[in-house]
Amino acid sequence: MKTEIQEKLETFARKRTIPYCSSDHIECPTGRCPKCFSDDLMTLHRGYGPDWGLETAIREIISEELTPINTDEIFEELIRDIYPETTTIGYLTYDTATALRELDPVAWDLAKSEHIDSLESDEQVISLDGGCTHFWTHDLETLLEHE
Ligand SMILES: [Zn+2]
Repeated sequence: MKTEIQEKLETFARKRTIPYCSSDHIECPTGRCPKCFSDDLMTLHRGYGPDWGLETAIREIISEELTPINTDEIFEELIRDIYPETTTIGYLTYDTATALRELDPVAWDLAKSEHIDSLESDEQVISLDGGCTHFWTHDLETLLEHE
């Protein structure tokens, strides 16, 4: 089942792409090829290239329009909200976030991706590339609404 945001993304991408006949190598703005009369057309995103389906065009357009969130920054803010600013180990006092990140970078990355996953489950952030980059859902919705 398609989510509402997925449908909006497809509508958005359709407006910025042109149906393209891969046999005749021509643009078919009407949705049917004037030469071979096929309606089984590719999607051409000008400046990129034709592709089947809208997924690639959606990713290309969104990455042009929006800046992905900085997951490091977001996670560090969370840590600074939750824990005291400094942590004492023995006779030394460290900045808590820095100490956590530098003492165990693997654990830091794991906790960070768990946090981003939970933001994704809450639909606060959205990824269009299987989790490599994320955008604020709010930013994406604003972009789609002003189209
Ligand atoms: Zn054709």
